[in-house]
Amino acid sequence: MYENLIRVERNTPDKYTIVEWTLGNKCTYACSYCPEVLHDGSAGWHDHTKLTGFLDACYQHYKVDMGKKMIVQYTGGEPTVYPKFKELVSHARDLGILQSIISNGSRTVRFWREAAPLLDKVHLSYHGEFADPDHFVAVAEEIAKHTDLHVNMLMIPGRFGEFLSVANRIKQLPDINIQLKPIQKDFGADLYDYTEGEKRILDEMHGFENSAPRNRGYPSGQLVVTHRDGTTEKTVSNSLILAGANRFKGWNCNIGVETLNVDMWGEIYGGLCRVGGSHGNIYKGEYTLPSSPVVCNLDCCTCHLDIMVSKSEGPL
Ligand code: SF4
Ligand code: SF4
Repeated sequence: MYENLIRVERNTPDKYTIVEWTLGNKCTYACSYCPEVLHDGSAGWHDHTKLTGFLDACYQHYKVDMGKKMIVQYTGGEPTVYPKFKELVSHARDLGILQSIISNGSRTVRFWREAAPLLDKVHLSYHGEFADPDHFVAVAEEIAKHTDLHVNMLMIPGRFGEFLSVANRIKQLPDINIQLKPIQKDFGADLYDYTEGEKRILDEMHGFENSAPRNRGYPSGQLVVTHRDGTTEKTVSNSLILAGANRFKGWNCNIGVETLNVDMWGEIYGGLCRVGGSHGNIYKGEYTLPSSPVVCNLDCCTCHLDIMVSKSEGPL
């Protein structure tokens, strides 16, 4: 079905650049399934002007010079503990950059009352070893008043009843979707040991939506693939992975043009795959944002965001 692909791209007329930014590695929690380096705070904080300077540089390069829409997604650690988080997202909002965040929701309701209106999408993750259910639901309620909310329930074996009751409370909110997520040990390849009953719940209740999410200008996750005979087909990255069609070695790929990935130490890469190497470091203030495609040299393209970047056997 995907044996003769020659091109993969997002199914959208608009051209986007998505910056995935790991805003440090400090966290309010220390989940047992999370590698130490993702929450031990060892990366520290840096001069705020270096961060706003990076946003300014992205704005100039991608929006002004290349005419693209820009999205920044903040992750961590827990990105909301960055001391000048609200100043940072206000700055990006002033530049017209769309913003989303992946957060554990541990900050106060008051914090979210001020921060959520500045964000175009919030992904909350429920980490049940540390999260207080009542606080989490109150935060979800507050965020849903202001912006799109997606909730991931990280399902710990043996605690499904408790977690499903939190999910069902959140499910009552408008404009929200929830996913029950299986947890991988150390966020690696191996899943925790779930009982057969738990696996069935994860399969059957993988996700549930409550009404259509608001449209804030985000691209959909749909792809268009082109076959060698010129025919095209709509699909999603998961289907390419399941069919083993996520192999693009030798193809031209627009990472660095359509995506950037910034690690917790401020090092800038084109995508999670890091093909093309580093483009410099935000905190050292030395970087050059890329303008042209790379040639893929990896056997397999594994990250969903990387797969969604335009790529072609021929010129892009
Ligand atoms: S909330 Fe996220 S970053 Fe923090 S310890 Fe848990 S998994 Fe790690
Ligand atoms: S692995 Fe990287 S360079 Fe290769 S196709 Fe995927 S995103 Fe592009």
